[in-house]
Amino acid sequence: MKKNFVLIIITIFSLTIFNSSCSKKTAKPGGGFNLFSVKQDAELGLQVKNEIESNPNDFPILNESRNKEAYQIIRAMTSEILNSGKVHHRNQFAWEVKIIDDDKTLNAFCTPGGYIYVYTGLIKFLDKEDELAGVMGHEIAHADQRHSTRQMTKMYGISVLLSALAGNQQQLAQITAGLINLKFSRGHETEADTYSVHYLGGTSYNCAGAAGFFEKMLGQPTPPQFLSTHPNPENRVENIKAKAKEKGCKISNKANQTRYNRLKSLL
Ligand SMILES: [Zn+2]
Repeated sequence: MKKNFVLIIITIFSLTIFNSSCSKKTAKPGGGFNLFSVKQDAELGLQVKNEIESNPNDFPILNESRNKEAYQIIRAMTSEILNSGKVHHRNQFAWEVKIIDDDKTLNAFCTPGGYIYVYTGLIKFLDKEDELAGVMGHEIAHADQRHSTRQMTKMYGISVLLSALAGNQQQLAQITAGLINLKFSRGHETEADTYSVHYLGGTSYNCAGAAGFFEKMLGQPTPPQFLSTHPNPENRVENIKAKAKEKGCKISNKANQTRYNRLKSLL
């Protein structure tokens, strides 16, 4: 049961790029009540990371010793974003990055506490390092802005959550049932897009890199169903580009194309 609970949380994280509820409520950037402490975000994240990495059927982590160069590139990208000077919990969270060897999944996710997972399918699908950096910035923002625990606080309250995580089966069952429908709010998705621009503004990347991801998705002959849900992807592209313009940051792609092509060829 505990495993199911964690897997459902992971499923929620894995949908964070694309999903949002149709809730009209929006969170103020950086705000939103959270009963969890920063330390508890880190602890919850570690627990989820351990579940992920003990489940190679669902999460086939790319072997690091046989893929050193690919890991060096993805870590260099992560470090550049984290060292932008704009990540609030830069020193409190783990900020580990792993690659999941699954070419069919166009996704990335980040648990609370900064355990980042990027699918080979996403890396191969994208054309530019800026685009992947934009998606990674978005996922880092969900963890850095602590969206999961803010959302869970709103739904359950900390005593129920911690008791469930400590093994209270009845509460666990209750939460598990409710979590199936838990999605980040539209406000949190927009906030993560905005923070992606903010973080990348402190790097050599095109700070509107995340817009490239949505544009590429929309350019598919049959765009995935999730793109038809809120927030509207065209609006997200516009929002990301507007934020980039507002901040006066770079919008041309000058990232190292050779390195990104190399990364793709390694996978
Ligand atoms: Zn998201």
